[in-house]
Amino acid sequence: MTSYEQLLQVLRDEGHRLTPQRLIVLRVVAEGRQHMGVDEVFREAQSAYPFMDLATVYRTLRLFKQVGLVTEVAIGDRLHYELTHPDDRHHHMVCRVCHGAFNLSPHYLEEFNNTLVNEFGFIPDLDHFTIAGVCVNCRPQSPEQVGVGSEEFTLDEDVS
Ligand SMILES: [Zn+2]
Ligand SMILES: [Zn+2]
Repeated sequence: MTSYEQLLQVLRDEGHRLTPQRLIVLRVVAEGRQHMGVDEVFREAQSAYPFMDLATVYRTLRLFKQVGLVTEVAIGDRLHYELTHPDDRHHHMVCRVCHGAFNLSPHYLEEFNNTLVNEFGFIPDLDHFTIAGVCVNCRPQSPEQVGVGSEEFTLDEDVS
């Protein structure tokens, strides 16, 4: 788990000034739930710092992404952000009905990765790989499936 102080150090090391806007956006993303939309980050940042504007939030998130502090996840047609945890690497399954994002442990894709490398000589960029589909809560339920999954697969829960 990365501490807030370590996150700040990343910015300093990259030569970026620790402006109040950056500190607040970083804190919102660090303390917020996973996969926050830009508008959510903006709302929370603005309640902590009324002078915050949306353009600054966009710029700040882009900067954080550039230095590797946050990971960008496309959910539907909107971008979401979450803190990059080196020890919590995961892919995303994104539901096209409810736009929920579900974490997928990298080990599920290891075999797929090896197949591409060994059989095709192709090295895939599977980091932050996103699989679109329909989640267990949104797919049509057949009678014997009713009640399955609704507790295990709640929105934004880490299922890895
Ligand atoms: Zn869904
Ligand atoms: Zn995620």
